Amino acid sequence: MTQLSNSLAAADLATSLHPYTDARALEETGPIIIARGEGIHVWDTAGNKYIEGLAGLWSVAVGFGETRLADAAHKQMSQLPYYHIFAAKAHEPSIRLAEKLVEITPEPLTRVFYTNSGSEANDTVVKLVWYMNNALGRPEKKKFLARNKGYHGITIASGSLTGLPNNHRDFDLPAIPVVHLTCPHFYRFGQEGETEAEFTARLLAELEAVIEREGAETIAAFIGEPLMGAGGVMVPPEGYWPGVEAICRKHDILLVSDEVINGFGRTGGRFGCETYGFTPDIMTVSKQITSSYMPLAAVLFTEEIYDAIADNSHKIGTFGHGYTASGHPVATAVALENLAILEERDLMGAANRLGPRLQEGLRQYADHPLVGEVRGAGLIAGIELVADKATRAPFAPIGRVGAQAAIFGHAEGLIFRAIGDTLALCPPLIVTEADIDQIVEKMGRALDRTAEWLAAQG
Ligand code: PMP
Repeated sequence: MTQLSNSLAAADLATSLHPYTDARALEETGPIIIARGEGIHVWDTAGNKYIEGLAGLWSVAVGFGETRLADAAHKQMSQLPYYHIFAAKAHEPSIRLAEKLVEITPEPLTRVFYTNSGSEANDTVVKLVWYMNNALGRPEKKKFLARNKGYHGITIASGSLTGLPNNHRDFDLPAIPVVHLTCPHFYRFGQEGETEAEFTARLLAELEAVIEREGAETIAAFIGEPLMGAGGVMVPPEGYWPGVEAICRKHDILLVSDEVINGFGRTGGRFGCETYGFTPDIMTVSKQITSSYMPLAAVLFTEEIYDAIADNSHKIGTFGHGYTASGHPVATAVALENLAILEERDLMGAANRLGPRLQEGLRQYADHPLVGEVRGAGLIAGIELVADKATRAPFAPIGRVGAQAAIFGHAEGLIFRAIGDTLALCPPLIVTEADIDQIVEKMGRALDRTAEWLAAQG
């Protein structure tokens, strides 16, 4: 095992550039090479067993080793491993999945466009909206509104919508017209003495002011994750989303719900927009759509948007957008089986059944000396570590303590993600009460070891 680990690690270090990794630091530590998974657990090549507390990348809803998904892929590969849906072709899995997605998402969403990744889905949103507004004779209505710390992907357009400095710095982004608004996270961005309701009112006033300043006739859409995930698991303040929706409607601005993490039951409702009380014009989904067993994403949108696009493309006889693997038959077949499992086992209701146990379990650490805020909803949570609980001052540099906590988590047999100094949990939807208790316990030990490590540093 160790020999295999060592030779694989050496090969990896010699040949790869890893996403979201400090390459020079990796050269010192080497990678953790994951070899297999079963249920909520994964094992590395050295034989260590971990609870996958982030479900891979917020995505392996049904857990690892689900043979029904392997069987669905095998069956589809044997029958029709690939076909496209360009040029008036179609195949059954992509049709059936589109039907299913339209059935389970909010009513106004009637149309589906497939992509391979969440980034491509949000890129497609930008292109659909621009195309639509050109078709409607309002070519100046092109800007997007997004939020600081929002995450929408890393391609040129979706990376522009993302509101995180590391995704912009030295990549020459944003490269499309986008205005980033205040991050709707009360703990960090609420002002001294402000109530949550006042915070919401201030964010909505900011939105109105930005629309006034830019001109509603120049703004195409507002995009947001209902509960913000990769920016640090941030729960919106009370009343925020209905307020945003009302303002968007008033100014004829499309509302886009990025459900790449929220979708399929993560926050309690089937979709985050249901949990937080708004109805989008466009929705993007990925990750839990296939439990990440296959790469797949989709954009859902209204009949009105469809009509504008269809009429315009009819003039030239084609719609010039699409990916070789749009609606890939194996990916869509796996998604169908995955959604069948989610429905049969009511896994989209798991966050309602088990979420309180996770949220309450973690809230016992609110008093821990390193913990500033414990937050989350359903089966997604974040624990923000701070240098000073009273002033909420972050550690400097941000991320060093979080990264160390993640290492202690690994040592305790729990994988979670450190986003700066926020420790993110997003376990597979198949978790049991006993699993949650273990996750909470291991997180507590990781926090204690981090505190000891910090104290030892003086
Ligand atoms: N949107 C959200 C909300 C996401 O969390 C992510 C990925 N974490 C993306 C978009 C981008 O998806 P991908 O990594 O598949 O491009």
